[in-house]
Amino acid sequence: MVAMIPRIDPPEHRPAWQEQLTAAVRSVEELLQLLEIDPAKAKVQPLQNEFPLRVPRCFIQRMSKGDCRDPLLLQVLPVLQETTEVTGFTADPLDEQHAMPIPGLLHKYRNRALLTMTGACAIHCRYCFRRHFPYADANPVAGHWQPAINYLIQHPNITELILSGGDPLTLADARLHSLTKRLATLKQLRILRIHTRLPIVLPARVDDGLLSWINAQTQKLVFVVHCNHPNEIDGSVTVALDKLAAAGVTLLNQSVLLHGINDSAKTLATLSEQLFAAGVMPYYLHQMDRVQGAAHFQVSIQRAREIALELRASLPGYLVPRLVQEIPGMPGKMPL
Ligand SMILES: *Cc1c(COP(=O)(O)O)cnc(C)c1O
Ligand code: SF4
Repeated sequence: MVAMIPRIDPPEHRPAWQEQLTAAVRSVEELLQLLEIDPAKAKVQPLQNEFPLRVPRCFIQRMSKGDCRDPLLLQVLPVLQETTEVTGFTADPLDEQHAMPIPGLLHKYRNRALLTMTGACAIHCRYCFRRHFPYADANPVAGHWQPAINYLIQHPNITELILSGGDPLTLADARLHSLTKRLATLKQLRILRIHTRLPIVLPARVDDGLLSWINAQTQKLVFVVHCNHPNEIDGSVTVALDKLAAAGVTLLNQSVLLHGINDSAKTLATLSEQLFAAGVMPYYLHQMDRVQGAAHFQVSIQRAREIALELRASLPGYLVPRLVQEIPGMPGKMPL
């Protein structure tokens, strides 16, 4: 008998980073199995969650096996404590839905505006203040940038546009080109800033396609990456950051101060030193936003200040990130 041979579509040409994104681990069971951790020990919350687990395999490789307190694992693992309701921790702690003149465009600070380009991220960070964000309502629909661009034209005092999300670098290069081709016509825009965690959590994103997009930009490019712990930086991350620096991108880092993960001056000092070695300057250390489901990551302001003082003692001034908190209604992020 001749077996039926299933018709196989020719493999679509997709960059390696997109394959890695698709192959990200989405199940708690698989993650714990890969790390050889007993689920009973890890106090894992069932997966029925509006913010499911998502973590690229290359990031998992930087976690240590058998350690349920691993600082990278704790950033991504849904745990029971998330279901505890804590007073003062809300779904929209920054009151962002009131600072959005155009769907997807946040204009909170005088000369900078922030465009949320997608709700997608390569990794789901449990402490993220955008975890409850209504992306479906708030995003510019695929390629429909015009209302946001019109707003920028009407507000020539906006000299810097921040591309954010979600993570803007989860978008394909063609989408980035289609937006920035239009932005290039706005002479007022001097700086294009990209808030992205991809060079850290999925360094394969920094490929030839992204580098040619970077080379095509006329505005000054700033990447603010997001790295919380020195263990997040391995050889592949260093290579990706080197490529960005070589392409002329200004590289800054923001971290979130997280209980049990990086709430120690020693850890943060090492992080600053390793980032600097990779060409990245520390920018912000955020006092975490009070988002529902993340209260167990909170570090008290008093402890945060102690850590900041210790950092100042152990690092040159240029390697000390600014400890800041976002307070709705203030003209910028507030130093603590
Ligand atoms: C953080 C943020 C900015 C940028 O603030 P900087 O202090 O310039 O980094 C701009 N717009 C919004 C809505 C922000 O949340
Ligand atoms: S927006 Fe940033 S912090 Fe939030 S889940 Fe995405 S990558 Fe993590």
